[in-house]
Amino acid sequence: MKPLLLENLLLFDGTGLTPYKADIRIEGERFASVSSGARTPASEEIDAVDLEGFIALPGLIDCHVHLVSPVEALVHEPYWKLNTPPPLKAFCAARNALETLKAGFTTVRNCGGVSYGLPEDIFLRRAIDAGYLVGPRILACGGGISMTGGHGDRQFPAFMPPHPLLGYGDETCDDPASCRREVRRKVKMGADFIKAYTSGGVSTPGDGPQSAEFTPEEIQAIVAEAHLHDKRVAVHAYGLQGIRNAVKAGVDTVEHGCYLDPAIARQMADQGTSLVTTLGILKAILRRGKSYPNPEALKKAEVVVAAQSCAFRTAREAGVNLALGTDASVSIRNGDNATELMELAGEGLSPLEALLMATRNAAIALGLQHEIGTIAAGKIADMILLDENPFEDMSVIAGKRAIRAVMRGGKVLCVRTEKGEELIGASLSPAVMMAAVQAPRRRG
Ligand SMILES: [Zn+2]
Repeated sequence: MKPLLLENLLLFDGTGLTPYKADIRIEGERFASVSSGARTPASEEIDAVDLEGFIALPGLIDCHVHLVSPVEALVHEPYWKLNTPPPLKAFCAARNALETLKAGFTTVRNCGGVSYGLPEDIFLRRAIDAGYLVGPRILACGGGISMTGGHGDRQFPAFMPPHPLLGYGDETCDDPASCRREVRRKVKMGADFIKAYTSGGVSTPGDGPQSAEFTPEEIQAIVAEAHLHDKRVAVHAYGLQGIRNAVKAGVDTVEHGCYLDPAIARQMADQGTSLVTTLGILKAILRRGKSYPNPEALKKAEVVVAAQSCAFRTAREAGVNLALGTDASVSIRNGDNATELMELAGEGLSPLEALLMATRNAAIALGLQHEIGTIAAGKIADMILLDENPFEDMSVIAGKRAIRAVMRGGKVLCVRTEKGEELIGASLSPAVMMAAVQAPRRRG
């Protein structure tokens, strides 16, 4: 494939600089050069596209999604589990993956979920990597690790012995040895990272968001074993003690972190532990109100939502690396991931700060900052093209209409034409992209 030269763009490169005029050269799956000002002469050996009027951003990253269930799912209900066998969930996952990519998210980390004992997210990643499906880069955990009765124990009704057709959900372990064994099993299955639950949460019947889950020894076993295999550890942690135990054990990311305090925030900043904030999810549950199928969760969400906002400010003041996460599909539709940017704006972040959470900071949280998250020579060419400026109005990303092209690894996978038609495919050539994208959409 010829190198591709994108000229006259306004570029937000994800390093923290405000957008600047630039030309970007892409060779194969990587950015070859980014030049501001000096024009690279076009030649026969290069496909050049003039993109005056467009703004380019690094492909967005969501550090916390659930792709393998529909937003309407009643994942704790035995009926839903029985009536939604693995192939049906897989088709749903394929749709969710594509919707996520079309929304500008080129990398997501799938943080566990119901699984019939199958590592469905690992299979989804493999299907995308093999070219069977079009989707984002997926970091998969193959399901989470929970204590019995913990937030990831989705064996309901609780009085029944585990049964495959009711879905084991995340795996349950109840001593350090079984925790280690489960990490080893997940690594063997092909997990990219390990997800565990060190506090209760909102959506599981019977546990409280503030209660600590797993003993410190069990968490240490999970982290030590994962790190032996060079796998990062993400923990669901709402309550303070659960956060403390996890940070002390050396986890890499804390998910949600709703009750963290200044002392633990300082420790996270010192250790380089990232916080994946998920500000929108509880509000999304509350917005559903009485139509939400789990009244107990609704009550819990009402209490936790204020604490989460406070924790976010505490972490921000302490200098914790803050990364964007949504928890889609839990009440937020896969593909609506960028609504989280609006939540961040609501917390007083500038568009630049919010977009850094979805690019550079998110890449740091995933340990992939040397490959993705910024647009620079040598990095993987993940990029989105917009025909409206999110620095003037962030809602243009959440609304998706302004996203005109999504590139992953140097391939243009999605194009939205001037008329709003969508072109999807793994092999759109730069020429197709040129024809489809070149004219900025005429507004009004
Ligand atoms: Zn989650």
